[in-house]
Amino acid sequence: MKKKYVVLIVVIVLIISLIVSFKVWVNYNKNVEQIPVLMYHDVIIDEYYKSKPDTIELSMFEKQLKYLKDNGYKTLSLDEFYCWKKGKCDFGKKAVVLTFDDGFYSFEYQVKPLLEKYGMTAAVFLIGEYTGEITPEFAPNRYGTVGAEDINNSLKHADYGSHTYALHKMVGNKKRVETLTYQQIDADFKEMEKIYKFEYMTYPFNTDTEDFIKALKNNNYKLAFRGESEKATKTSNDYLIPRIGVSNNFESFKAIFETQKHNNRYGSGFLRKVFITLERKLKIKLG
Ligand SMILES: [Zn+2]
Repeated sequence: MKKKYVVLIVVIVLIISLIVSFKVWVNYNKNVEQIPVLMYHDVIIDEYYKSKPDTIELSMFEKQLKYLKDNGYKTLSLDEFYCWKKGKCDFGKKAVVLTFDDGFYSFEYQVKPLLEKYGMTAAVFLIGEYTGEITPEFAPNRYGTVGAEDINNSLKHADYGSHTYALHKMVGNKKRVETLTYQQIDADFKEMEKIYKFEYMTYPFNTDTEDFIKALKNNNYKLAFRGESEKATKTSNDYLIPRIGVSNNFESFKAIFETQKHNNRYGSGFLRKVFITLERKLKIKLG
């Protein structure tokens, strides 16, 4: 056989074995123990609901809670999730974490009564500068945020965490976090600490910069969550825990629990970073 054919065959065999081992590796990661961390924002009374990616109708939220209850799911507090992640607690295969970003007062008026009804818990991530002393009176067509009084009173129904003190903003077309130095980010964390000592964080606008992560570590945050449409595993980076955004669509919600769609594909570490970046750039799903 001519030398060039031998080279060609070797190259083909190499490519095939690379693809096969990639598939095996992806499937291995899909089968590791994982917990969905769900990401909500605002929950709106049905007649005021206007379709927006980050919000859902109140009746849809109740339908989702009922689904979790009927299917035997347990909602974990952030401390319980942390305990699981560190391998010190086991909650079986039916555990889920509910998180609400931005601290909307719909949590106090709409979400909390439903959580009580279904015996569930959720975590709220507050923006410090928007949190007043008390929760304003409810108006269904107006935004509002949870007040300090309710936060202090309702710790048994909900965990609270930080969504930064004043970094949840855009500066021109840039996210504020991207425009700041480490010192400025650290100062924002210290500002929040004057009001509350939080141990968990969600990134404003998913902006996980190196300086932000450094400030999280230096201020003793245990975990930080972002949105990545994947379930969390014990090996997920503590400061890049993926969450799955919940939409106003019940089939998509069920798919989180009944299909492989949101299962972890790339484990953790350097290779995960490479493949996730590739997916974002190419706008495709590799694994
Ligand atoms: Zn937010």
